[in-house]
Amino acid sequence: DDHTVDLAAGFGVACWPEHAADADALISRAEVAMYTAKRKTTSALVYDPAIDASSAETLSLLSELRRALERDELRLFLQPKVALASGRIVGAEALVRWQHPERGMVPPMQFIPFAEQTGFVRQLTLWMFEATARQWDTLRALGLERVSVNLSTRDLLDQDLPAKLDAVLKRHGVPARAFCLEITESAIMDEPQRAEATLNQLHAAGFRLSIDDFGTGYSSLAYLKRLPVDELKIDKSFVMAMETDEQDAKIVRSTIDLAHNLGLSVVAEGVETEAVWQRLAALHCDEAQGYHMSRPLPAAELPAFAARW
Ligand code: C2E
Ligand code: MG
Ligand code: MG
Repeated sequence: DDHTVDLAAGFGVACWPEHAADADALISRAEVAMYTAKRKTTSALVYDPAIDASSAETLSLLSELRRALERDELRLFLQPKVALASGRIVGAEALVRWQHPERGMVPPMQFIPFAEQTGFVRQLTLWMFEATARQWDTLRALGLERVSVNLSTRDLLDQDLPAKLDAVLKRHGVPARAFCLEITESAIMDEPQRAEATLNQLHAAGFRLSIDDFGTGYSSLAYLKRLPVDELKIDKSFVMAMETDEQDAKIVRSTIDLAHNLGLSVVAEGVETEAVWQRLAALHCDEAQGYHMSRPLPAAELPAFAARW
């Protein structure tokens, strides 16, 4: 259809018999080399035990992750987002957890990066979106205005994402405006033009869009101005340090001003103390999320929390 498509390939090479004696192990090692090649800009890489430091762990995690969906081991957790002015719970962020039969509750930072590398994250995103859509009636009854779901770079590069999300919305009878999609700066800046095209489609479909971990990536203000985003989420590293570090406090204040001047709302993540809450309220930050209010909770526990709150 007249679109220019950039294709890239990563090659992993493993040699018999020095890298492995049997075929399965040989393929695994080639796979390790391939994922390393894909991560770096090199297109081909020969297996080396040095790149394999945690690869046994990584590979078993990868194949287990593929099965985690079938075995229903992923869990939806929700962390409330509170409006600073009213103190009301106005939203929640959907965060994935992996209830592993032996490893216990695996935090996302241990498997999202692998899921990103292999492209599996696209299935994970749809699973999260569906699990969240299923909760929407309950959340709306609690007074929530919307719920946030994280997207990854791979999702943004998937031209079919808007159609896939639309199918989930239709299946559950949920409007797009019930969702805020969080995208990190680095995901956008990986391939700004394609990301922009997807974001424009999602915006047109009615989704609210948020830039996550703002301040840690390489955002260009030129893009910020152009992209159809509604919200900036200040990275927790600045928020957590703002009590003790005046520079961080200045970054938070400036980001709130920047966002408001651009007509965006601002969320501070990582609010761990009452003092930070008070400072953010004084700076007219719109919403706060953090351990001071609540840790991420299993989805089924949110109603009881909201009732106490
Ligand atoms: P994120 O999207 O920036 O999510 C916020 C993270 O900050 C969550 O970590 C949350 O538990 C943590 N957090 C919230 N309040 C506080 C606080 O007061 N103090 C501290 N120290 N931490 C706080 P979590 O759940 O471990 O998730 C980490 C990252 O994993 C997320 O960062 C997000 O990038 C990724 N992630 C989680 N779930 C998903 C998902 O479903 N899809 C995708 N693509 N990524 C996900
Ligand atoms: Mg997020
Ligand atoms: Mg964040």
